[in-house]
Amino acid sequence: MMRSMLGRINETLQNKISERLTFYDDLGIRLFYKDRGAPQVHTDAAPVAESLATPAHHKIYYEEPALPKTTRTPEFPKAAQSAPRVVSSRATPAQPSPKLDQLPVPAVPSLFEAFDKVPDDTLLKIRTDLGECTRCKLHKTRNNIVFGDGNPKAELVFVGEGPGHDEDMQGLPFVGRAGKLLTQMIEAMGLQRKDVYICNVVKCRPPENRLPEKDEVATCSPFLLRQLDAIAPKVIVCLGACAAQTLLETNRGISNFRGQWLEFRGRKLMATYHPAYLLRNPSAKAEVWKDLQKVMAALGLEAKKNKTSEAGKFGEAAKSAAFGKS
Ligand code: URA
Repeated sequence: MMRSMLGRINETLQNKISERLTFYDDLGIRLFYKDRGAPQVHTDAAPVAESLATPAHHKIYYEEPALPKTTRTPEFPKAAQSAPRVVSSRATPAQPSPKLDQLPVPAVPSLFEAFDKVPDDTLLKIRTDLGECTRCKLHKTRNNIVFGDGNPKAELVFVGEGPGHDEDMQGLPFVGRAGKLLTQMIEAMGLQRKDVYICNVVKCRPPENRLPEKDEVATCSPFLLRQLDAIAPKVIVCLGACAAQTLLETNRGISNFRGQWLEFRGRKLMATYHPAYLLRNPSAKAEVWKDLQKVMAALGLEAKKNKTSEAGKFGEAAKSAAFGKS
């Protein structure tokens, strides 16, 4: 009897696993996992990579290009960890999210094996481990490492692509033109830059502001994962395709999942357009504002009402973009 019960449980579980994996495949998102196990799903990298390929009609422009086809799970730098004992990040109490039902992810235990978390990790430790990094070729042309900036206990983290010229010169993220727009976006949300944390997928400027290359992303992203684990925000906002595709391990164009609640290592993640993209396509501000309003709702924030203040500018510009006012 026990055996037949176990058989039934296994079957039910298997069905759930299959359903969930199909769901992720449909969505084109493969969160960090090691083994899918179920017989009717992919068991090796190649078919998975196939299923993640961006369909031709979903190609997006400029800031939002697809990453190379075989985006690889970044390796966590175990050797660089100072403390030998590791605990699974799944042991981390996931922030009970009031809007979790909005996630297009079934509320069943995660099938996706997360990377181990460094116990008692801090931004300072991560910065120290990063050192005067020469792990990838970007170090040859950078002026400054742009580690990240803001509140180490922020509830909201913005992740961009990589430093540009101004950031490289100052060693701070998002301080150029795109950064000014990001500041407006943050202030329109009723926050200040010091309330949030801002960082990038790669910490050194890619020459000529080109997209970070696969090996650069793979080398640098473990530090980003540690930053996100250490800060433990309620919400992660990916600015642009590079950040979204890196964290979600997908090659799908951002427009396929922008504005939807997704999950990253037990935290709520939303992808939206990069501010640099908005500088070129101001009409997209309306969509970004909608995304940010969802983030505000999840964080219990109210929009700034004052239309003339700096804080109100992004919201007003977004409304104009949406409704065609000048
Ligand atoms: N663009 C980014 O993605 N990051 C920065 O820090 C600046 C511009």
